[in-house]
Amino acid sequence: MPKCNVILSTQLHGLIQIFSFDLVDHCDVCDCAFPDNATNRRKHNFGLVHINNKKRHYDWFKDPNDFINEQMNKPVCRRYMHSGYCEYKLDCRYGHIKLDKKTGNPIFPEELLEWLHAKTLEQQQQEQSHSQQIKETKREPSYKYKLPSGWKVKDLPPSLKPPPLGQDYDWSRVGTWG
Ligand SMILES: [Zn+2]
Ligand SMILES: [Zn+2]
Repeated sequence: MPKCNVILSTQLHGLIQIFSFDLVDHCDVCDCAFPDNATNRRKHNFGLVHINNKKRHYDWFKDPNDFINEQMNKPVCRRYMHSGYCEYKLDCRYGHIKLDKKTGNPIFPEELLEWLHAKTLEQQQQEQSHSQQIKETKREPSYKYKLPSGWKVKDLPPSLKPPPLGQDYDWSRVGTWG
């Protein structure tokens, strides 16, 4: 290959890199970015990391009881039952829930307990912000009082006049003359 061709191709390559710099695909599920092209997208979308993240993303919106049932219905993970540890945690194709030999009660693995704990926390936060919103909308409205016809605010005795503006006065829950 002639030398100039090599230079041209590296220059072109650089140019393409510059032009494609902004064309970045972002995966919200994985919170990662990669240069946007069909190969990368396919590679990403069919990659185990993305598939697991996506599953986890959707699992998060499941009812906790459904999620637990799903975990219980998986075939038993031999690795976990044998060693008490399996790196795949909630992503494992197999189940990590043990049954207590005496009581028959399920024993949840740590990752499931963590999941449930995080879920409860999120629910509590949502309930809190919800009740906060209700409180805010319930805040007493400020009332408007109608003056008898012909009456003007400036003619009222000082005790009935609104406090002068600009002075440190709490104007919430204050009635005004309409
Ligand atoms: Zn992804
Ligand atoms: Zn496992």
